[in-house]
Amino acid sequence: MTIRVLPETTINRIAAGEVVERPASALKELVENAIDAGAGRIDVTLADGGRGLIAVTDDGCGMDADELALAVERHTTSKLTDDDLLNITALGFRGEALTSIASVSRLEITSRARGADSAFAILVEGGRVGEMHPAALKSGTRVEVRDLFYATPARLKFLKTVRTEMNHAIDVVKRLAMAYPDIAFSLADETGFRIALEAAHGDLLDARLARLSAVMGREFADNALAVDAERQGLWLTGYAGVPTLNKAYARSQFLFVNGRPVRDPLLSGAVRGAYRDFLARDRHPMVALFVDAPRETVDVNVHPMKSEVRFRDPGLVRGLIVGALKYALAEAGHRASTTVADAALGAFRPGAGNVPYQHSGAPPGGYGQGRAGLATAADFYAPLPGTEAPSAPPQFSVVESGVPPAAEKNYPLGVARAQLHETYIVAQTADGIVIVDQHAAHERLVYERMKTALAEGCVKSQGLLVPEVVEMDEASCDRLVGRSEELARLGLVVEKFGTGAVAVREIPVMLAGADVKTLVRDLADDIAELGQGLALNEHLDAVAATMACHGSVRAGRRLSGPEMDALLRRMETTPHSGQCNHGRPTYVELSLADIEKLFGRR
Ligand code: ADP
Ligand code: MG
Repeated sequence: MTIRVLPETTINRIAAGEVVERPASALKELVENAIDAGAGRIDVTLADGGRGLIAVTDDGCGMDADELALAVERHTTSKLTDDDLLNITALGFRGEALTSIASVSRLEITSRARGADSAFAILVEGGRVGEMHPAALKSGTRVEVRDLFYATPARLKFLKTVRTEMNHAIDVVKRLAMAYPDIAFSLADETGFRIALEAAHGDLLDARLARLSAVMGREFADNALAVDAERQGLWLTGYAGVPTLNKAYARSQFLFVNGRPVRDPLLSGAVRGAYRDFLARDRHPMVALFVDAPRETVDVNVHPMKSEVRFRDPGLVRGLIVGALKYALAEAGHRASTTVADAALGAFRPGAGNVPYQHSGAPPGGYGQGRAGLATAADFYAPLPGTEAPSAPPQFSVVESGVPPAAEKNYPLGVARAQLHETYIVAQTADGIVIVDQHAAHERLVYERMKTALAEGCVKSQGLLVPEVVEMDEASCDRLVGRSEELARLGLVVEKFGTGAVAVREIPVMLAGADVKTLVRDLADDIAELGQGLALNEHLDAVAATMACHGSVRAGRRLSGPEMDALLRRMETTPHSGQCNHGRPTYVELSLADIEKLFGRR
């Protein structure tokens, strides 16, 4: 056996294996360097998904000839002034990115130090450092990486399609851009600009919201709740989307620690925990959250790519996130996403977007004098032949709500005007209409009430005159009875009743009138599914949710005017009532302006 010292280039390529996984990771290092250099604008050009070229230009502090020569050496950094790894103020500190990238590509850096009268350039090819020479550059630094991984063909083989690599690169720049709203960013490829963000000014919060809106879309900014909380010197700020603005992928969750984009299981777990009550398991909220922790309480030197962090007190961080998000969501009250109305309007329109109405019975050239084929409301003022008298009885009931006409001004969800199909409540608001799914809404109200009662330890139960005997298989009976203490806290008193049956003696008052047999069978299924692992109170929430579903007004029940108004008023004051327990909206709001658009009046 011969132990030998590895050559410098090999050492650097081994390090490169950790730092530079793909073009996007090289790009991340270069953009972070530009941010650390105090840049006000950072422009990125990519060719062939970054394999052919990654060029990053900044207007930061630049480097003079000596600094430039040092920068491409391994373990050289200007950022770790006192060798204290717990006092890291810059994004970089490992002093190995440039060397690593240079060992597997052709890297050229051109830079001009602030105040210097000329720029210098240096080329490193596959780790071989070339001659430094004077070059032309007005200010700042331009780094060009060509033929990434040409020196390590094995890595080249692992790269995905140009499109995939491109998307990773875009993601990297977007994430950094979200954390630094005062820096302008652009990213261009063969097809043109993929990112173009101007610097956002104003105070940090305004600038941040403007930047988040530019990156994540208006839809997020319009439907995000501000988060601002502190615990023991640990801050959480940012924005959390209302639950009805949910996605099928967790991709729209952006988390930052001390200005550093991170993908951290602890943080994303906390976000999931906070939204668990409001979203189905396969849906994900949109959030952009910024954790600011005293530097000595968080270790960023966990991973060469610096995308994970370690907190000294993980419990504190989790508690802060869950607490702050739950608070923000509760404050949002009944608010549901505006995208719900957009989706509804989209659904009303046949075909995509603004395709005009295609009416099968339209005369050639369409109705009226409007655009051909586009029917306007005016066309319907006179009854169409054969439609004068409706042949079927109307499918709605108009109610006298007894509320004076102007009252809707005081109520965000308006005054109930009708119930349709015994399922939907239609209410008139000051400037539009609201359609409520009565079952979904009531389910949420009952659930929230149960949770409150549970927290206050006072779920009222009522004894049944005749105990309800429910037959089930023996295993289900055992599981249910095994949880009888917890169930009793929820107001449900069950006991064993011979073999293959349980007797229900008391049920929560809130659930009066519910179908006890199905409720109990569903609960047994729930308990089987949840298993033993869950903590007591999480378990109770899940059980309360099932109970709420049974206790709520079913679709198909006719409600009186006062009943409907009472439901609306309760929704307005109940937290989280904008969505059912699965993240679906409980109501849709359409403004008159939206409705006028539907009818082509605008
Ligand atoms: P690190 O960022 O961890 O310090 P790097 O290898 O990425 O290590 O960079 C080495 C050094 O080169 C940096 O510490 C910095 O002084 C200098 N440098 C790199 N990029 C730039 C840039 N765009 N502008 C000014 N200085 C830079
Ligand atoms: Mg760096």
